Amino acid sequence: MAKLSVKKGDNVMVISGKDKGKVGKVLKVDGDANRIYVEGINIISKSKKPRNAQDKGGIIKQEGTIHVSNVLHVCPECGDVVRVKHELRDVNGKQKSVRVCPKCGASLEEKKPSAKKAAKKAAKKKSEKSEKKED
Ligand SMILES: [Zn+2]
Repeated sequence: MAKLSVKKGDNVMVISGKDKGKVGKVLKVDGDANRIYVEGINIISKSKKPRNAQDKGGIIKQEGTIHVSNVLHVCPECGDVVRVKHELRDVNGKQKSVRVCPKCGASLEEKKPSAKKAAKKAAKKKSEKSEKKED
């Protein structure tokens, strides 16, 4: 199987089609078809039939797939839109092929906690603190 340069969680920019210029996070990768799902990109509407009282049906919107060749990476370090290159690097004492930004050289393999997650963590800490304050 060919190794895709796009992985789940990557930030990519669409370079062709109706969503050209939009940026989103990769939600899912279909490695066999070389297609990916990107958050907020290529939204398709599907009509859904109601099944019961809880499930009222209606129009649901969801991401459709786009081909990996239609996106470029957005580097988390320098913010540039780049075509990643593969480089052999020493990772924990082993030579590994990692995806790097050709502009700043940052590795795209190291995942940083998203801003959303960090905010959630901070909010949790805050609420724990206020609980302790109550006597
Ligand atoms: Zn970079």
